[in-house]
Amino acid sequence: MYQGSCLCGTVKFEVHSEISDIIHCHCSLCQKSTGSAYATNGFVQTADFKIIQGRSELQHFELRSGRKRHFCSNCASPIYSSNEAEPSRIRIRLGVIDSSISERPISHNFVTSRASWEELDAQLPRYEAYEPNRQ
Ligand SMILES: [Zn+2]
Ligand SMILES: [Zn+2]
Repeated sequence: MYQGSCLCGTVKFEVHSEISDIIHCHCSLCQKSTGSAYATNGFVQTADFKIIQGRSELQHFELRSGRKRHFCSNCASPIYSSNEAEPSRIRIRLGVIDSSISERPISHNFVTSRASWEELDAQLPRYEAYEPNRQ
């Protein structure tokens, strides 16, 4: 079982199944919706997903008809996305899960849409916190 929450802590949820088909999605929509280089998304069974706190604070945005992006109205964290054409499963962004996740991403997708400043295989130095020279 996984537990997740939004940035402000208003919305809390549980996932009572494994997370499947985890991908790093570099498409332009994921760049916009996260404000970052890519989103890491996976699927869970709708029946195994439970909002345990803050349901009334969830709002949704519908870019395409029937595809809703549900987010915390207080802090804007993306909680899950639903697709009316596929009601049995929902998509979640792995960054809102607090638990340690045992499944692993299987691929980078839509790499031709990736941001011009993103280098997938960059051999950049790695730090546990900010880089040493940051003011
Ligand atoms: Zn929130
Ligand atoms: Zn995407």
